[in-house]
Amino acid sequence: MKHKIDNILFSVINAIPNPVIVISHDKLQSANSAFLEFFDIQSVEEFNKAHDCIAKLFVQNNSFFTLSDVSGDEYWTDYLFLHPEVVRIVSIMDQNNQMIDFELSIKKIENESDYIIVFNNITQFIAKKNEYKYFAYHDHLTKIYNRQKFDELFIKEIANKKRYKEHLSILLIDIDHFKKVNDTYGHHIGDLTLIALTKLIGKDLRINDIFARWGGEEFIILLPRTDIDTAYIKAQELRTMVELHIDQELPPLTISIGVTEMNNSDTTKTCLERVDKALYLSKEKRNDVVKII
Ligand code: GH3
Ligand code: MG
Ligand code: MG
Repeated sequence: MKHKIDNILFSVINAIPNPVIVISHDKLQSANSAFLEFFDIQSVEEFNKAHDCIAKLFVQNNSFFTLSDVSGDEYWTDYLFLHPEVVRIVSIMDQNNQMIDFELSIKKIENESDYIIVFNNITQFIAKKNEYKYFAYHDHLTKIYNRQKFDELFIKEIANKKRYKEHLSILLIDIDHFKKVNDTYGHHIGDLTLIALTKLIGKDLRINDIFARWGGEEFIILLPRTDIDTAYIKAQELRTMVELHIDQELPPLTISIGVTEMNNSDTTKTCLERVDKALYLSKEKRNDVVKII
């Protein structure tokens, strides 16, 4: 009877789509079919011949568990079992060099020093989580920072400006006659134009400049350690670059830019109002740059 139950249990464990292993200290004792398939091997012996410790295959990742989290005189299995507060997520490279993320559940087998470990594949969940995190701070269409991230970075840059007594300039950009682009070529081409424009401008900025989508076809750029005259020259450079840029697939564009520099009595509000006014004035001519100190 016991033998029959053992056989049934064995079949059940083999039917589980996630890898399941029994491990004694560092040594693999048995594994289900999903585990053997994952490593493309025939037997536990084959695995043990190639690897003395499975935890060495956990890829270094700051937010996941790796062998380097464990001190030299402790087995990783004991460490995980005794520290339920530790994140039990690991990353392992599969046969196609794809990183697969697993959440481990670890149970001690009664009266023995062995553990049974289930590798729950949570790769899709982690990817979705990372995507949500990414789009909390990036614009869906252009992938540059969104307004929320801009607000956060603006406050940081103001603090830097005050602490180090540096200049901080702001550019507000609006595409000229963009409604016409949509009306003439359609919204899809309008979208592609926005993507191409952000790539073009982004390439011409320094690593510490902060570039964000302010709204529909408006963009904002923070230029740390830049005074208003240098910012004005930069704005003219961007304006000319966009005017002269030719893309065979997309309609030509021009942009208007307002420029200002943050002064010591400014709040974010007064500074943004001023750059908005400068942009408004640049729209009198369009394809123009106006600075207000
Ligand atoms: P100007 O700024 O020169 O005064 O004229 P404009 O035609 O650009 O005027 P306005 O700034 O008022 O219009 C912005 C247009 O941008 C209207 C809107 O349909 C379009 N727009 C905003 N966001 C998007 C987007 O994500 N995709 C596309 N295709 N169009 C957008
Ligand atoms: Mg606009
Ligand atoms: Mg516009």
